[in-house]
Amino acid sequence: MTRPLIFAANWKMHHGPAETRRFAERFLALNALAENRRLWFFPAAVSIATLAEAFRARRDVAVGAQNVHWEPKGAYTGGISIPMVMEVGARLTLVGHSERRHLFGETDEQVARKTRAALAAGMTPLVCVGETLAERDGGRTEQVIVRQIGAVRQTLDPGDWARVVLAYEPVWAIGTGKNATPDDAAQIHELIRMDLGRNGVTVRFPILYGGSVNTGNVASLLTRPQIDGVLVGGASLDPDKWAELVETGSRAKVRPSGGFTSVE
Ligand code: PEP
Repeated sequence: MTRPLIFAANWKMHHGPAETRRFAERFLALNALAENRRLWFFPAAVSIATLAEAFRARRDVAVGAQNVHWEPKGAYTGGISIPMVMEVGARLTLVGHSERRHLFGETDEQVARKTRAALAAGMTPLVCVGETLAERDGGRTEQVIVRQIGAVRQTLDPGDWARVVLAYEPVWAIGTGKNATPDDAAQIHELIRMDLGRNGVTVRFPILYGGSVNTGNVASLLTRPQIDGVLVGGASLDPDKWAELVETGSRAKVRPSGGFTSVE
């Protein structure tokens, strides 16, 4: 079996249920099931049920939440819990997206709690890490990534990583049109694996790259064996463009053999 490529779409605060239905109809008309890839969608919470229903017959598609609380219920006005999003069809959740960290003040500790809670509930967390421009310019990229991952690692058992997916998303590349070069991204992915390996995490799990991925750069990123897929914001909002990006990326390379338990 070849390792499937992962194409993850983060819709942020776009597409309510009606727009989501239109997206799904058009995308399904353009995109056929392929065994060598997985398509993950992270719509707004109100659109999860619509999207999960629209893709019910597609075993290569999974729908996720963009954010969850670590508590299953309680007095957290505006919050949304893991059981709630699972009830309407979410099987994954983003955790620690840079917009949550930097616009909403989410801490490393909260990211770790959410990751743990997702795993405990049987959900796949897609944990995002990445440095800001100031941290990169200050030569602190490695330090920041190791710190962000370390916070999660300390709350998990090494074997738990078989059910985790990571995304390296340099903050300076998100929504800016500037993407990390394939070499730079591959180097950080290696750094992540080395750091985890030094700390007893030897299971192979997917690491995605995110940050201004588009049809023009997706193939060159995915030709790096270190990059297992992409997490895409802006270029995932239009069904025609997203279908094209998925096709272009899928042709990028023959995947090494072996699977991931986090990717059914
Ligand atoms: C993202 O939101 O995770 C992202 C990578 O956005 P964009 O593709 O628009 O840079």
